[in-house]
Formats: sequence, C-alpha cells, structure tokens
Amino acid sequence: MTESSSRQIVIFDTTLRDGEQSPGASMNLVEKMEVAQALVELGVDVIEAGFPIASPGDFEAVRQIAKMIRGSVICGLARCRSEDIDRAWEAVRHAERARIHVFLATSAIHREFKLKMGKEEIIRRAVESVQRAVGYCPDVEFSPEDAVRTEIDFLCEVVEAAIEAGATTVNIPDTVGYATPAHMHRVISTLRQRVPNIDRAVISVHCHNDLGMAVANSLAAVEAGAGQVECTVNGIGERAGNCSLEEIVMTLRTRNDYYQADTRVVSRRLVPTSRLVAAITGMQVQRNKAIVGQNAFAHEAGIHQDGILKERTTYEIMRPEDVGLTLSDLVLGKHSGRAALADRAKALGYRLSGEQLNSVFEEFKVLADRKKEIYDGDVAALIEHQIHTIAERWVLESYQVTTGTGRIPEVTLTLRHGDEVRSAQMACGDGPIDAVFLAIEEITGFKVNCKDFRVHSVTVGKDAQGEVMVQVEYQDALYRGHGVSTDSVEASAKAFLNAINRIASVVNGTTQPTASNKPGV
Ligand SMILES: [Zn+2]
Repeated sequence: MTESSSRQIVIFDTTLRDGEQSPGASMNLVEKMEVAQALVELGVDVIEAGFPIASPGDFEAVRQIAKMIRGSVICGLARCRSEDIDRAWEAVRHAERARIHVFLATSAIHREFKLKMGKEEIIRRAVESVQRAVGYCPDVEFSPEDAVRTEIDFLCEVVEAAIEAGATTVNIPDTVGYATPAHMHRVISTLRQRVPNIDRAVISVHCHNDLGMAVANSLAAVEAGAGQVECTVNGIGERAGNCSLEEIVMTLRTRNDYYQADTRVVSRRLVPTSRLVAAITGMQVQRNKAIVGQNAFAHEAGIHQDGILKERTTYEIMRPEDVGLTLSDLVLGKHSGRAALADRAKALGYRLSGEQLNSVFEEFKVLADRKKEIYDGDVAALIEHQIHTIAERWVLESYQVTTGTGRIPEVTLTLRHGDEVRSAQMACGDGPIDAVFLAIEEITGFKVNCKDFRVHSVTVGKDAQGEVMVQVEYQDALYRGHGVSTDSVEASAKAFLNAINRIASVVNGTTQPTASNKPGV
C-alpha cells in the first residue's frame, strides 16, 4: 500500500455552524476565532464558519474568520435566496479562499410542508441560486436538504442541474439521520451512475447521528466514491449530532488498507482540538467516546495490559501519541516560570497573546500557592477561564457562607462591575451553592432558571481543582458558564457568574443567543 494509491478526502468541518446549533453551545466571537484557528492547525480543508444571514453576530463571526484565518477554505451557508447569498458573500469575500454553500430542501415532505413548492420551482431556484453564488466566487457547494429522503430520480435531476449551473461540490445531506450504510452507498453509487456531469463536481456527504450511524454512513459514502465528508469535532451538532471528525479521520487512516483514502488532517492535533471544543462549548465528551474519550486508550484489564506490555499491537490498533494524547502529564509547580507555562499552553493547543499569557501566569501563581502539582488539566482550565473572562462584566470579589445541618445558609457576596463594587447579604437557599446563586441574581438583577449543574475534578488528588459547568435559561435561551477553583463553592459562583455575563453580553447586543431553530442542512 503506497501513499500514491490513496484518494485524498476533503474534510469539511462544520463545528462552527452545525455544531454551534447544539442547544447551549453557542460561541462568542473570541471563542469562534479560537476554534477556527485550531481547525486550521488540525488541517481541515474547509471551515464552515456560520450562517451569515441568521443574525448580525453570525455575520460578524464569519467575516472576522474570513479576514483573519489563513490556511483553510472559509465557507458561509445560505438558503436559496438572493439576500442570503449576497450576505454570505459579503461575509466570506475577504477569505484567502472562499466558498458559498447554498441549500434547498428537495424531499417530498419538505417540498409539501415546508417550502410549498413544486419540483420545477425547486430546480429553478437551485439553478438561479447556484448561478448567483458562482457570480461571486468559483467555489460553490449545493446541498439538496433532506437528500436521503428525496425520490432518487428527482435527486439525480436536481444534482445534474446544480452542477450544470456551476456547483463545484454537491453535498448529499442526511438531514434527519435516517440513512443506513447500505442505503447511503446506494444513493451515492446511483448519483455516480446516472448523473451525466457528476465528474465535474466533488460529491460530499453530511450525515446526522440520530440512529448512531453518521460515521458509518459517511464511510459508506466514501466507499461509493464521495470525495468530501462534512463533520464536527466531537460529533457535536443538532439533536444527536453530526459525523465525528476524529472518528472518520482515524478510520480512514487506520483502515487505509481497505478504503485507500486519507485526509490532510494532522492527527496528533485531534485530542487538543477535542478538548478545546469541549471546554468552549461546554459539551463534555463521554469517557468511552472513540478516539478522544478519556478511556479510549486506557487498558485497565490485567489481561490486556499484559498483552500490551509484550507487544503493543496485540490490542492497540492506533497509538495514543498519534491522536495527540500526551503519555505523561508534565507537572508544573510553584517554581515554574512563564516560559514553562507558555510551552505547556502551546503543547495543549492554545495560542495566547502576550497579554493573555500574563493574566494566565498571574492566576497560575495563585494556584501554585494553593496546590503543589499543576497538571495539564489545570493549565487548560486556567486558560479556558481566561478565554471565557475576556468580556466579563461582573467579577467575583469575595464570598462567605455559613451553613450547617437544618439551618438556612447565610451568605455575604461581593461583585465588581467596572469600578463599582456591590454586595448582598442574605439568608436564603437550600445550601451554600444555592445561596451564592441567589445572591448573584440579587446583585446582577438577572433571574435565571438553572437547568444543569455539574462538578468534576480537573486532575487528581485531594487538592485538585473543581471545574463547574452550569447551564441556565433566560428568556427562552440557554446559556452556559464555566468556573474553576480548588474551592468548589467558589468554582460554582464563578461558573454562575460566567453564565450571567454571557446573558449580559447578549442583552447588551455584543453576542447572539443560541438560535436552535435556525434552518440548515
Ligand atoms: Zn446538519
């Protein structure tokens, strides 16, 4: 098996568009830029940066990414409407290489109930829209939304017309996660056999994971001749999510003997990118998740361990270092300098500005006083907190709670808001954390509904840092917050405040709430 016999599959990452549509996973501009930069370093070919017409926040994020990020094609999504396409172009036009992705539903159920359009009108709209996009840029992708449930004859007709109109990629979405591998294989094979101009475009797939088959379906499509796979880091996305980037990439690499296809992805960036996306979106990866889960390479059972020690390949089909899992957690301590910290940050996949490094280093010194050994997980948590606090308006100054069995907690809490300092003193709540949350609501004036609250330890040991993730609801939108401290009540306060700050930034118009009802493929 030589390299030259491998087909190169285009990796189209939609973490910033489809992934962001996961409830509660919306990212602000700084976070999106961070993810986009990580995706470039990961080596993805195309970054779908957002849906520019959906909101001013989406537009601005796509525009900034197109302007600043170099190394991948930057794509913007648009419905088959002139105003969508114009707006998408406006957002991506400064990219090194730009792509416009237009979509229109084609299945009978969508034609009848959503669009109320006949087949002829669908084709006409698709053709006009592709032509309009081609007028702006030569790289145009067309998606017949819900393609998998579209009558195959009509699908062939639409795809042929889109290619004729200038589409250079035709994407076949399984929008509702309905396909099976054999079904997907048949759809792609049929298109290749029956669409006369199919060789003029790259065939792509976009699979949802409602039946748990997004990766399997994408692989079946590759086997049938698809040249692009759309996926997201950690498989995040609407409902059960999308095809997981790390799984498709490592399957093609590990089973190159079978698929004879590979990607440009730098696999040792997979784990750092996965951690970054999990921390930013607040969507944690399950422990047994393939490739990037905490247990993916842990061989606990004695019999396997024995086999591994004798010969790694007895039980290991991939090497942990190939996906970027660091074998030994490098430990930093009180005497570690700024350069050592900067080194670890870089190895973990973060790019910090001088100013950010300074603030992280300050927090690092405080932590080193509280905790003897500082692990990678601690460093990542400090950096995450730094990224998250950039736009913070309310900052925790101090808190004190007295509580005990059978008594109402008494809390004194002080927050800083710019130059202003405000305190609340009250007896309330079911416990110390509830009391702290109520005091924060009292001071900030935001009354929210706490939907999720999770604490886990970042590293090991009794002095380990606690990481708290909260999800709160405010005016029908979900917001998340993240906080870290060796004191779990303080971590909870920081996480809650982080969520409140997100709400404040939306209320003040600097970011947009999650629009879970956005259309999309
Ligand atoms: Zn999708």
